[in-house]
Amino acid sequence: MPPPSDLAGRPAAPGLAIGPVVRLAALAAARRFSGDPVREVDDLLTAIEAAIADLATLAETTGEDGAGILEFQVAMLEDEALREPALALIAAGVAADTAWRQAVEVEIAGYEDGEEYVRARIADLSDLRDRVLGHLSGTVDEAPPMSGAVLVAADLTPSRFLATDWSAGGAIALAAGSPTSHVAMLARSRGVPMVVGLGTAVLDGGTEAMVDGSAGTVWLDPSPEARTEFRRRMATAEAAERAAEATIGQPAVTRDGVPVAVLINLADPAELDRIDPAICDGVGLVRTEFLFHGGGLPDEARQVAAYGRIVAWAQGRPVTIRTLDAGGDKPIPGLTVDGESNPFLGTRGIRLSLARPGPFRVQLRALARAAVHGPLKIMVPMVTVPAELDAARRMLDEAVAELVAAGISARRPPLGMMVEVPAAALAVDRFAADFLSIGSNDLTQYVTAAARDTGAVADLADPGNPAVLRLIAEVAAAGARRGIEVSLCGDMAGDPAFVPALLRAGLRSLSVAPAAIARTKAAIAAAAARA
Ligand code: PEP
Ligand code: MG
Repeated sequence: MPPPSDLAGRPAAPGLAIGPVVRLAALAAARRFSGDPVREVDDLLTAIEAAIADLATLAETTGEDGAGILEFQVAMLEDEALREPALALIAAGVAADTAWRQAVEVEIAGYEDGEEYVRARIADLSDLRDRVLGHLSGTVDEAPPMSGAVLVAADLTPSRFLATDWSAGGAIALAAGSPTSHVAMLARSRGVPMVVGLGTAVLDGGTEAMVDGSAGTVWLDPSPEARTEFRRRMATAEAAERAAEATIGQPAVTRDGVPVAVLINLADPAELDRIDPAICDGVGLVRTEFLFHGGGLPDEARQVAAYGRIVAWAQGRPVTIRTLDAGGDKPIPGLTVDGESNPFLGTRGIRLSLARPGPFRVQLRALARAAVHGPLKIMVPMVTVPAELDAARRMLDEAVAELVAAGISARRPPLGMMVEVPAAALAVDRFAADFLSIGSNDLTQYVTAAARDTGAVADLADPGNPAVLRLIAEVAAAGARRGIEVSLCGDMAGDPAFVPALLRAGLRSLSVAPAAIARTKAAIAAAAARA
């Protein structure tokens, strides 16, 4: 049966690409069993060391974002807990390769039932499994030159991504995978279009693929007409991108002369390595969930360093750091509440922070300490009633007082809130916030009662719904009355189609993904702010 030509998956990194399909097969390791447990242990440990050396070499030649991921993998390989079950199996007479494969697969199985964030680590473990197996069998999988290809696989490992030359384009189409995986994060930051969750049909055949990473669509073996039309779309998108890039360093001004601040959203400070601060007016949203990617609760010193690094990068521009927004679509094992019937309506954001005040206090202390280095602001997510913001303010004031009393330098930063719950948007005057930032991703899902991560209701979860736009305009007007800044940091700010409506709603500050800065500025220049 010929493969279906049009496959729908989940968008993981935006952009359009067409290229030859390169299917990545799982590594088949064939190795002779020595029968001697001492020799098998020796071979396994040597293979693990060789894998660590590979990753260290790769880390030297990649950017800091990739290096961070590879260091995370090295730490996993160095962890005794990963190798001990394999060593026990070898002691029981099992061959080194079988023992290693079984041990890692047991570990992977433990991740499979986890939330999406946990499952996203499976690609890292598979990567490590195959790399060590490659060394054991002497068939280390060196990435062939695949510049410009569309990589098709069940899932993709971070080291395979980093070993691939993306300079001539290319894309990724995965049967499984997750938009929150390390590979998806890398693809977004390097501009490689990526679609995940396409199902096994994508593995079945096809020699050429077209990938629309924004829509989450992949066409296998397109017709000549479809290919011509797709290339035309690519050319239009590239021309628009080039034109926008040419003016990226200039401040954004509408065609009727109104200046608009354009800031960046950050999910990981490692992204900053590739960004010149001169292209933006600051950082409008730091999603601090990145601190928990390595597992465990990050201590105060680590957080001070992470926030300080962002403030230093911004060179005096404002940096708005959001307190932990765990829960909902961002579960953190060991911290968020398991088994809620509807996590998006459950203990997430500030609700979780107030329910678990220990980690929240550490974060507030770290933010107040980092604030001595520049104009840092603190933003609280998922605020629903004024009492939540008041509680956060009291805790912040206490944290600052404690630090000062202990002789630790600290500053009390402005405290603002995300407006993403309809109850807050409709009555924003009730909240004693120093500034507001509209979270249109959540506001849209709560206003339309259509979950942001459910493809079947994606058409309903439309930020352009007049009810959402009306709320945005009301929040902007309320901010203007109070004389406080109102920004919007949801994904709609980076979609040129929505920029005119946002400006007409009264917004003068937008915060977007770094890759969307150029097109957002271009859309602002083409729009009129006054109706
Ligand atoms: C939002 O909800 O629009 C937002 C910016 O926050 P997040 O996407 O992290 O929930
Ligand atoms: Mg949100």
